[in-house]
Amino acid sequence: MIRDKVVIITGASSGIGEATAKLLASKGAKVVLGARRLDKLEAIAAEIERSGGQVAFQELDVTRQSDNDALVKLAKERFGRVDVTFLNAGLMPNSNLSALKTDEWHQMVDVNIKGVLNGVAAVLPTFTEQKSGHVIATSSVAGLKAYPGGAVYGGTKWFLRDFMEVLRMESAMEGTNIRTATIYPAAINTELLGTISDQGLAGQMQGLYDKFGISPDRIADVVSFAIDTPDDTTINEFTVGPANQPW
Ligand code: NDP
Repeated sequence: MIRDKVVIITGASSGIGEATAKLLASKGAKVVLGARRLDKLEAIAAEIERSGGQVAFQELDVTRQSDNDALVKLAKERFGRVDVTFLNAGLMPNSNLSALKTDEWHQMVDVNIKGVLNGVAAVLPTFTEQKSGHVIATSSVAGLKAYPGGAVYGGTKWFLRDFMEVLRMESAMEGTNIRTATIYPAAINTELLGTISDQGLAGQMQGLYDKFGISPDRIADVVSFAIDTPDDTTINEFTVGPANQPW
């Protein structure tokens, strides 16, 4: 059931996070939004409220543990509990390794990996104590298939597969009833390509997305489906992409 569930969403200021926030709020969830761009969050929250939804938001840099902790605190203060955390913030500055864009490598590790670790660390004590909770993370098809230009991005997304599976296993063994879902999207039209600084690769990727890209609403539907599944059932992995995208 989605109605009245309290759902934290990171990376909620655009793309997949924004679409998911709006969809879940329209289905009666209480959504708690985090991202760095407060003005965007404000506008999204205003739209949700105009449509009768319940929402809270706060500036969040997922690379800071204290920001992640503060978002959980906000959820509890405003809505009394946390049922789901959707760890979705990420960036994809693809480039060939020979270009040595080492700052971008580290940024991807900090946001795509450590951001998820921080988000899980922030919510796990609550989920363990209440013996329920749902951790949903956005990986990528780049976490399932290697491709040139995506060594570091793919590595950060590949990490999630292992991490989320072990989280699922340990939660089952410890009897905490924490459910997990990892989503592996292919080409989804969002602001993500804006994070690629390599102009050649950015152009190639844009061509791919122009040809195949589908709406982030499709991923929002999957998140909604995962949350709506009965509490005794985990659907651990979803690979989702355009029906006509061959790779
Ligand atoms: P967007 O660029 O539209 O959204 C990315 C979100 O992440 C933004 O809300 C951004 O907000 C947030 N973000 C980035 N860095 C930080 C940070 N340090 N702290 C907090 N929030 C941050 O792209 P998508 O919606 O596509 O991306 C969402 C997820 O989906 C990512 O993990 C991406 O890797 C994954 N994905 C996307 C695919 C696609 O084709 N679009 C395919 C496969 C996976 P702000 O800048 O305001 O902080």
